[in-house]
Amino acid sequence: MIGISPVERIEKIKNQIVHYIDMKELRLSIEDKNPHPFGKFIPEKRFRDVKVMGPRDYLPSARSVITVGIHYPYTCLSEAEESPAKTIAPYGFAQFATLHQLNMVSLDIVKFLMEKGYQAISTLDLFNIASRLKTPRGLIVDNTANSYIAVASGLGDLAWNGMVLTPEYGFTQRFIAIVTDAPLNSDPVYDGEPLCNKCFQCVENCPTQALSKEKGISIEIDGKKFIQGCLERLRCDWSKRYGLIAEAGPKYMGCELSLKPPRREISSEDIMEAVQKLDPFQKYFVCVLERCIKACPRKFGNKKGEQSKGFR
Ligand code: SF4
Repeated sequence: MIGISPVERIEKIKNQIVHYIDMKELRLSIEDKNPHPFGKFIPEKRFRDVKVMGPRDYLPSARSVITVGIHYPYTCLSEAEESPAKTIAPYGFAQFATLHQLNMVSLDIVKFLMEKGYQAISTLDLFNIASRLKTPRGLIVDNTANSYIAVASGLGDLAWNGMVLTPEYGFTQRFIAIVTDAPLNSDPVYDGEPLCNKCFQCVENCPTQALSKEKGISIEIDGKKFIQGCLERLRCDWSKRYGLIAEAGPKYMGCELSLKPPRREISSEDIMEAVQKLDPFQKYFVCVLERCIKACPRKFGNKKGEQSKGFR
């Protein structure tokens, strides 16, 4: 999948989302000080020096943003946590491998543009606001990464959980953005039937109650309003980033520890206390599958059952 947005459309989104981002939470990272990967989690609180980025922070002369999406096999999601095998690892591997493929494809596009005399740079998280997903290959950018960029490039609709539903593949793709000063024709934003039907299965199935059903935020993209639910970042990270909920993945790799987050607002100290209870295997080697993705009735789009075509 490929879509193109003018830079101005993306900059206008950035100007809206900065008001919704809690910068303290964005900067917070609980890191493991233990140099031994199979040792206990020794937590250390760090505040990364990050800011919300826009295309012109990457390339002051930027004119266009190209979004490339690659679909990963449906079975990595459909079979995850299902009987008889209840396997989860192929989902984690698909996430990792698809991001790797996107890096390779974007490198070719960047080289092509540079050969034509333009500048270009690619990023898996243009706004620099994504969280991280736990996999045995380490933390990778989560499925909210580049979601607004993909919507602005006409590839899909913004879902209540803040991820992108595409008509073809539902949630089963990942995206990379290429910022360039090449003047390219842009695509219109998605204007079909809403792909997210606001059934709130994502809310009901969230193991940490991180996603609100009542409160949403509205983002205007090229004159069209897109709405998503308000997400408590640290509550979501409790499971997705730190692997503290067994049912969200660790259980299917043999790790039973499941810690409920406190009902009140989660603090960094709560996470630091909890991660120390992880056994070394659950700290290092498990996959997490976002329950909001698994529960969504629209997660496969309209092409499931056909052979995946990869690009359109
Ligand atoms: S489960 Fe899927 S379709 Fe239903 S509200 Fe959530 S994202 Fe939208």
